[in-house]
Amino acid sequence: MGVLDGKVALISGAARGMGAAEGRLFVEAGGCVVLGDVLDAEGEELASELGDSGIYVHLDVTSETDWSAAVAEARSSFGGLDVLVNNAGILKLAPLESMTLDDYTAVINVNQTGVFLGMRAVVEAMKAAGGGSIVNISSIDGLFGSTNSLAYVASKFAVRGMTKVAAIELGPSGIRVNSIHPGGVLTPMVTDALTDEQAQALFEDIPLRRIGMPEEVAKMALWLASDGASYSTGSEFVIDGGFTAGFTLTGK
Ligand code: NAD
Repeated sequence: MGVLDGKVALISGAARGMGAAEGRLFVEAGGCVVLGDVLDAEGEELASELGDSGIYVHLDVTSETDWSAAVAEARSSFGGLDVLVNNAGILKLAPLESMTLDDYTAVINVNQTGVFLGMRAVVEAMKAAGGGSIVNISSIDGLFGSTNSLAYVASKFAVRGMTKVAAIELGPSGIRVNSIHPGGVLTPMVTDALTDEQAQALFEDIPLRRIGMPEEVAKMALWLASDGASYSTGSEFVIDGGFTAGFTLTGK
């Protein structure tokens, strides 16, 4: 018996990285998954790997129409919707002084507006199912600042706050809403943004001395999606190898 037996999950940004790891793990745990992304070829490939338990839909998280279609697909193919993982995200690095409005807006549209549209789109289906679980992927950049990441940090702080509002409003309907705050995780987002040397330098001093793996974050998302987390809502779940625990102070 799996912890997601009989449950249906919609995962955004599921074609690769953490979203793909969540898709695989949720199916292993007995769930059915609707994988949404803008990378259609990769998404279709993952869905066929998952067999009858996985479907791919084109889902640009900035599109209200795409969200409606994805929820409708979950209901028509799998009979309902119990879980949403708002995982899609983009990162654009630049110092405040030279960050363009286009880049700033692009990050806010996907990371922040996408989460709003996703949560709003699933409420009715989750109410019809008698409750549900929404898992919003924020970041440790939703807990503190980091250079060159103004738009990303703004979006991830917003996701942390929006999670709490949604948790308060939707709790009486049995819908739990939590945020996950990963530190560095080895996905294309990181390998596209940092050289191997930069990544090595960033993680060599954190308590666990390494970058995280997407499967490790997926396990936390699975727990929050499942009834095992039945009394958790409006909360922040950090998974960062100790990155935010503090810093190393060397004496003389
Ligand atoms: P990734 O780049 O591998 O995956 C992100 C996915 O989102 C991709 O498949 C991409 O196509 C999809 N996506 C981008 N724009 C989209 C849109 N408009 N609509 C739908 N899908 C879209 O990155 P990842 O590391 O797996 O990121 C997953 C989530 O985790 C993101 O929200 C990211 O901000 C967050 N996060 C990542 C790290 C890290 O170190 N990798 C750390 C903290 C938080």
